[in-house]
Amino acid sequence: MNTPNRVPAPVQVCELSVVIPLLNEEPNLPLLHRRLLGATAGVPGGVEILYVDDGSTDGSPALLKQLQATSHQVTVIRFSRNFGKEQAITAGLQFARGQAVIVMDADLQHPPEMIPAMLAAWREGTDVVSMRRRDRYDETWLRRNAAHQFYRAINRLSDIPIPENVGDFRLFSRRAVDALNQLPERNRFMKGLFAWIGYRQCTLDYDHSERAGGCSKWRFRQLWRFAMEGITAFSIAPLKIATKLGLLSAMLSFGLGIYFIVQTLIYGDPVPGFPTLIVVMLMLGGLQLLAIGVLGEYIGRLSLESKRRPLFLIESYEPASLTVTAPH
Ligand code: UDP
Ligand code: MG
Repeated sequence: MNTPNRVPAPVQVCELSVVIPLLNEEPNLPLLHRRLLGATAGVPGGVEILYVDDGSTDGSPALLKQLQATSHQVTVIRFSRNFGKEQAITAGLQFARGQAVIVMDADLQHPPEMIPAMLAAWREGTDVVSMRRRDRYDETWLRRNAAHQFYRAINRLSDIPIPENVGDFRLFSRRAVDALNQLPERNRFMKGLFAWIGYRQCTLDYDHSERAGGCSKWRFRQLWRFAMEGITAFSIAPLKIATKLGLLSAMLSFGLGIYFIVQTLIYGDPVPGFPTLIVVMLMLGGLQLLAIGVLGEYIGRLSLESKRRPLFLIESYEPASLTVTAPH
C-alpha cells in the first residue's frame, strides 16, 4: 500500500475482526461493546474489536482506553483529525487481522446480534455478506426520498449495480479484504468499491434500529458530496450527456440559423429578433455552464487523486494483545 503511515500488522491472527468507525460516540460505546462481546463470545478462533476513532472530540478516546484496559480483544486506531467515515473504514480494513472482517457503525443501528448469521454465511464460502435494512423508518421523508433517487440515478449511470438499502454493515472474507486494500484511489465510495470487487456475495436482511444516542453526523451538504463522489467514481455518463447535449444544441442553433437567414432573405428584416436572441443565448450559455460544471467535477477529482496524499494520518495505534490464534 502507498499509505506511508501504515503500521505493518500481522495478518490472520484471529478468526474475526470487527471494524467500527466512530466519531463522538461516547453515549453509545459502553452498550455497543457489551453487546459485541455477547454476540461474539462463541467465535472459536478469537475476536479482535478494532475501533477507529475518526478524530473524536468528546470522551470517546478516554472510554476506548478504558475498554482496552478491561478487554484484551480491543485494538484502537486514532486519526490525527476527522478524516471521514470512509477513510476510517479503509484504515480498519488495512489493519484488521482477522480471517473474516465485519464493518459496522458505532451507534447500534447495526445490531451486533446479526454477527453469528453473518459468520455462518462466511463459513459456507461467501466472501461479502451485505446486510440490507428492512426499513428506513427513522429518517425523514426528504432524506429517504433523496436516498432512493440517488440509488436510481447511480444504478442507471454506473456499470456495476449498487444495491439500495445496503449500507456499510458487511462481512468480508480475507481475500475480499485483501482485494479492497489493493484499491489505490483517494475517492472512497465504499459501497461502489464493495460491489466492484465481485467474488461470492450474498445479502441478509436485518432490522435497522434507531440511533441509540447522540445524533447523525451527516448533513445534507455532505450527502450531496457523497452522491457526487459515488456518481463520478463509477460512471463517466455525465460527461457523455454533456457531449450529447452540446451536440444537440449546436445542431438546433445551426438549424435555427439557416431558418433565420432564409427568412431574412425572403421577407427582409421587419422585426428585430430580440426575444429569440435572448432565448438562444440563455440556452447556450446555460448548457455551456452545465457542461463546464460536469467537467469541473471530474477534473477536481483528478487533481485530488494526482496529489497522492495519504487517505488518513494515524496518531496512535494500539493493537489488541490477542492471545488466541486461529484454528487453521
Ligand atoms: N462516523 C465517522 N466519521 C465521520 C462521521 C461518522 O467515523 O466523519 C461514524 C459514526 O460515528 C458512526 C458511523 O460512522 O459510527 C455512521 O455515522 P452516522 O450514524 O452519523 O451516519 P448515519 O447512520 O446517519 O448514516
Ligand atoms: Mg447512524
